[in-house]
Amino acid sequence: MAILVTGGAGYIGSVVSEALLEDGQEVIALDNLSHGYPDAVPAGARLERGDVGDAGRLDEIFRQYAIDGVIHMAAFIEVGESVREPTKYLENNFARPLTLLEAMRRHKVRDFVLSSTAAVYGLPDATPIAESAPTRPINPYGSSKLMLETALAWQARSQGLRYAALRYFNAAGATAASGERHVPESHLIPLVLETAAGERPQLAIFGDDYDTPDGTCIRDYIHVRDLAEAHLIALRRLRDAPDAAESTAREAGAPQLATRAYNLGNGRGFSVREVIDAAERVCGKKIPVRLAPRRPGDPARLVAASDKMLAAGWRPRHTDLEEIIASAWRWKRQHAPAAKSQVSS
Ligand code: UDP
Repeated sequence: MAILVTGGAGYIGSVVSEALLEDGQEVIALDNLSHGYPDAVPAGARLERGDVGDAGRLDEIFRQYAIDGVIHMAAFIEVGESVREPTKYLENNFARPLTLLEAMRRHKVRDFVLSSTAAVYGLPDATPIAESAPTRPINPYGSSKLMLETALAWQARSQGLRYAALRYFNAAGATAASGERHVPESHLIPLVLETAAGERPQLAIFGDDYDTPDGTCIRDYIHVRDLAEAHLIALRRLRDAPDAAESTAREAGAPQLATRAYNLGNGRGFSVREVIDAAERVCGKKIPVRLAPRRPGDPARLVAASDKMLAAGWRPRHTDLEEIIASAWRWKRQHAPAAKSQVSS
């Protein structure tokens, strides 16, 4: 079994590749290296440089390897940037993957797992959020992923694509080999740890006047390895229970996005201040903070109901916030180069 992992040189892509290899599957990591790192690709996986929007390159790769399925993680991920440059996000996260879907059709590859996002829900009416909640993204990043989910639903209907859209909440933590290094870094936990390491003078807290107990935003942090395990389950289900997936599509009068979407979170929310407190305990250091204005597009509270994936047999193992942060801290101290990100706080 060879799996094409797009974005395989990125943070989550490298951990998913690791999990696939441990499961005995062959991994072809496709990455244009715009944000990924060749050394993030685990030993045992094959790195192919290329873009999901390059039909000729995809044809080469599909001809060269006996690919059984695709896990698509190559995407831009910065919400703020997406608001400033919508077309950049729609082009990269929605338009280019259509070329990948066409290549799959040409080469008769039917199984597709999408890395989607909680950002498809926008400002939820209630938490925890189930997959049946309305999808009303409030930024181009969330829209770009939702548009791709829609394309998958249509492709499933007319071309027999089998897919699962995994809506990640806040991926965090590290394995022994793979951790988070975005440039520039915009995510809370790595920024907190950069501050703890003295690479940044202060952490900016983006707003403390939200309608939450301590006024800071609440998120559902999920360990990246637990996230990776869900991809293996999703792939297995596409292979082993294809009829169930297909009949769902046939029964639906219109593409029912929710039927193929799975939330991935722990179902427990932590505020920005709780994350900082936990990191102080993990690092044994005081983390200097300053209050900053709200970040546009931030919902107060995003917590997942992941019952669908739990019902499929998923069992997250690293659910303790301190354990998640400790894994990221260990990785940072062992692997991460000194901060390269632009210091903004
Ligand atoms: N956040 C913050 N300061 C930072 C980075 C993030 O206060 O320097 C907050 C952000 O506003 C959000 C939470 O931390 O409420 C998680 O943000 P992150 O960018 O990690 O993930 P998101 O929830 O946007 O996917």
